[in-house]
Amino acid sequence: HVHRITNRWGYVHTRTPEETLRELEHKLPRRYWIDINRLLVPFGKFICTGTRPKCAQCPLNDMCARVGVA
Ligand code: SF4
Repeated sequence: HVHRITNRWGYVHTRTPEETLRELEHKLPRRYWIDINRLLVPFGKFICTGTRPKCAQCPLNDMCARVGVA
C-alpha cells in the first residue's frame, strides 16, 4: 500500500517497494515511519485501492498528483 500510494501522491518516484522504503527513509522524518504504515494500510484498502481508487471521496484529492491514475 505504501509503495502504491506514495507514488500516486507524487511524493516518491520509485519502481519497487524496496526502492520506496529507501526513498521514504531518506525523505520522511523518522517520527512518521510507523504512522505512515499504520495509516496507509486501511487507506489503501478502502480509498486508494489498487484498481479504481475512490478519488472522488478521497480527503487528499486536492493535494494528490494522481500519478498513473486514469
Ligand atoms: S486522490 Fe485518488 S490517487 Fe490520490 S490518494 Fe486519493 S484515492 Fe489515491
